[in-house]
Amino acid sequence: MLIAGNWKMNTDVPEGRALANDIATGLSERPDAFADIDVLVCPSFVHLPAVSDALADAPVAVGAQDMHAEDAGAHTGDVSAPMLTSIGCDAVILGHSERREYYNETDADVNRKVKQARTHDLVPIVCVGESLQQRQAGNAASVVTQQVEGALSGVSIADASELVVAYEPIWAIGTGESAAPEQAQEMHAVIRDNLAERYGADVAADIPLLYGGSMKPHNAHGLLSQPDIDGGLIGSASLAADSFLGIADEAVHVRQEEPA
Ligand code: PEP
Repeated sequence: MLIAGNWKMNTDVPEGRALANDIATGLSERPDAFADIDVLVCPSFVHLPAVSDALADAPVAVGAQDMHAEDAGAHTGDVSAPMLTSIGCDAVILGHSERREYYNETDADVNRKVKQARTHDLVPIVCVGESLQQRQAGNAASVVTQQVEGALSGVSIADASELVVAYEPIWAIGTGESAAPEQAQEMHAVIRDNLAERYGADVAADIPLLYGGSMKPHNAHGLLSQPDIDGGLIGSASLAADSFLGIADEAVHVRQEEPA
């Protein structure tokens, strides 16, 4: 189970450092509970050194929210994979719907970034998800399948074994209206089946599929209990240690309830 926070463009650096410290403190108060749960935070680029430093002794990985597909060059304002690894980043969110919408990122862009992330040993968290209009038109499954296929075109089995896919219905992001657990499970099963066709059932079973879209402590249990939901990508609820760790606590409960 992976619980990942996407801080987006929030908090200044001292606030980000304080949030990271609060998360580290909260985890240190639950020493054994998190053996089966991976925790990741993805602050903005400028926070990464301070947050990595604050979490150096905590069981929390650090990731970025995007990166460029090339190693270096004339790309004003961009950040590369080698820059991220040089400050200890473990993962990178790619193809978030906000990047697709506001920066016109295409599946082909996401695909280049996925390959670049793997070249540099970063875990890509590939975001996919349909708009409300696409869902209402009955196209949710086909839209998401196309995004998965586009993002993973030419990605080897070895690299697929090191990636994460996040299903984030656009209509649930930042709206307070989460997908119902069964609705999310249905889409996760579509994604799992697609991955199984491409990489085989065993590899597909081990690729973590996160749900994202207004996950909060009060709805996390129902979502995380679904068979194909392996964790959460959390936006607004990741901006306070209490709510972020409240979701992580739910992940622990779900794990404890699973048959041995
Ligand atoms: C997100 O954008 O990745 C997200 C899941 O946001 P929120 O939890 O705020 O809906």
